[in-house]
Amino acid sequence: MPRPRVSALIAAGGQGLRLGAPEPKQFLVLGAQTILEHSIERLLVHPGVDEVVVAVPADRVHGVAARCRERGWHRVTCVEGGARRQDSVAAAFAAAKTDAEVVVIHDAARPFVLASLIEATIEAAMTHGAAIAAVPVRDTVKQAGGDRTAPSRPVAGTLPREDIFLAQTPQAFRREVLARALASGHGPDVTDEAMLVEAQGQAVFLVPGEATNVKITTQDDLEWARHHVARTGTMRVGTGYDLHRLVEGRPLILGGVHIPFDRGLDGHSDADIVCHAVTDAVLGAAAAGDIGRLFPDTDPQWTGADSVRLLEAAVVHLHQCGFHVSNVDVTVIAQRPKLLPYLEAMRGRLASALQVPIASVSIKGKTNEQVDSMGRGESMACHAVAMVVS
Ligand code: MG
Repeated sequence: MPRPRVSALIAAGGQGLRLGAPEPKQFLVLGAQTILEHSIERLLVHPGVDEVVVAVPADRVHGVAARCRERGWHRVTCVEGGARRQDSVAAAFAAAKTDAEVVVIHDAARPFVLASLIEATIEAAMTHGAAIAAVPVRDTVKQAGGDRTAPSRPVAGTLPREDIFLAQTPQAFRREVLARALASGHGPDVTDEAMLVEAQGQAVFLVPGEATNVKITTQDDLEWARHHVARTGTMRVGTGYDLHRLVEGRPLILGGVHIPFDRGLDGHSDADIVCHAVTDAVLGAAAAGDIGRLFPDTDPQWTGADSVRLLEAAVVHLHQCGFHVSNVDVTVIAQRPKLLPYLEAMRGRLASALQVPIASVSIKGKTNEQVDSMGRGESMACHAVAMVVS
C-alpha cells in the first residue's frame, strides 16, 4: 500500500491553567523546549506526516509561528484556535491541505507520543476510517450512583473492565470521515474527536496506546514529565581549543574580563581564547559547526568583536538546535600573569553568556613550566569541554 498523505493537527488553543502556572500548560518548559514544541516535534519528524497544523490562542499565533521559523520547521502552520477543543480542531482542519488522505489529531499536552503509535493509528485509520489510541484500565471500575455533588457516593455497579479503555491521542481519521463529523459538530462540547465521529454512526477502532503517552494535566504529571525528560534526554559532550600569540600593544581579555598585563593576545577579534574555546566546545557538543564557520574572520563585522557576544550568539544557535548547556570546564594555559584573582569574574561572564548558574562553570589556570611557546610567554592557550542536554 503506498504511503497516504497525512496532515497532523495539534489542538493547543486551550487556556489550560489548571496547573496553577501563569500560562497555559502547553507553553510550560520541559527540558530544552515547551511542552507544545515537544508535541510538534514528535509529529514533524515522523516520516509518515507531511504537515503539522497547530491551533493556539490568538495572542500566541505570532510567537509560535516565529519560533517554528527560527527552528527551520517549515512544514508547520499556526492558526488561531477557538474557545472549545472542537473549535480549535476545526480551525486547524480548515488550514490543512485538502489533498490529505488521513488526518491525525494530537493533544498539545502529550509530548511523549512514540513514532510507532503515530504509525499504528495512521494505518488503522486507512483500514477502518477512524482509529484512536487507548489503554485498557488496570483497576476494577466502579460506577457511582447518587448525587454527583455529594462528598461520598454509593456504588451503583461494577463495570466489566475488559471492555473499558481510556482514550489517548493520536486519533486518526480518513479525511472525509473527519470532515463530516466536524461539519456536524455544533452540539455539546466533546472531549475528543472520536465522540463526533461516533455520533455519526461511524465505527471507531482502538489501537493499543502507551503508558508513557501521558497527558500533562496536574502538577504531579508535570513533575513526572520533567523527570522523564531528565532520564531520557540526550547528553552530549564537545571540546574546544584555542591559542593566540602574545604581542605588545594589545589588551589582554580572557573570558570577557580585561586583565592588566604588559601584553595582549593578537587576533582579528578581541582574541579572547577562553570565549573561543568555550564557543567551540558548546557548538561541537551539538555538532552545530564551529566558531570559524559561524563568525568567519573574513567578515568585517567581527573585526575587534567582543567574543562574549559571539558566545551568546552561539548559545542562541544551540537552543535553536534543541540543546541547552549543562556545564563547562575550562583550562587556561598562561605562564604569566597569575589568573587566580580574575577567575571568579570570568566564571560570572561565561555563566551569563551560557545562560547557566555560576556553579555550572569551572575555570582553572595553568602555567606551562616555562616549556614551549606558552611556557616562554609567547602565547596563551585554552582547552574547554562542554556538556549539553536535549
Ligand atoms: Mg581564537
